[in-house]
Amino acid sequence: MKHKTKNGNTFIQNGSIIDFVSKSKNVYSINMKSLTCSCPDYRFRKAKVGGICKHIQEVLEIITGEEPDFKSFIQKDNDPIKFIDKFSDEKLEELKMKGEIIERKGKLEVVE
Ligand SMILES: [Zn+2]
Repeated sequence: MKHKTKNGNTFIQNGSIIDFVSKSKNVYSINMKSLTCSCPDYRFRKAKVGGICKHIQEVLEIITGEEPDFKSFIQKDNDPIKFIDKFSDEKLEELKMKGEIIERKGKLEVVE
């Protein structure tokens, strides 16, 4: 079954393996058991810090129906650089746009 993510990308799930096709037609392979992805962002950045790339995030949002817990991550560590390393700068901007977090004096704060 073909799934469409909110960003207009698509993926097909075969057990724990996901074939992810981006809007720009890049194809990545995601392993949902190990939460690894074949994209450069995962291999060169996220893998080193135990993070997940935006592809894994998008698939998780569809499969589990919920987003990773960004807010409790920030409550534990409010360094924006670490957030971007673990997730993405797009996600940071999205949460700021939604008014869920703010940046103050170079640190992140969750809006309660
Ligand atoms: Zn990826």
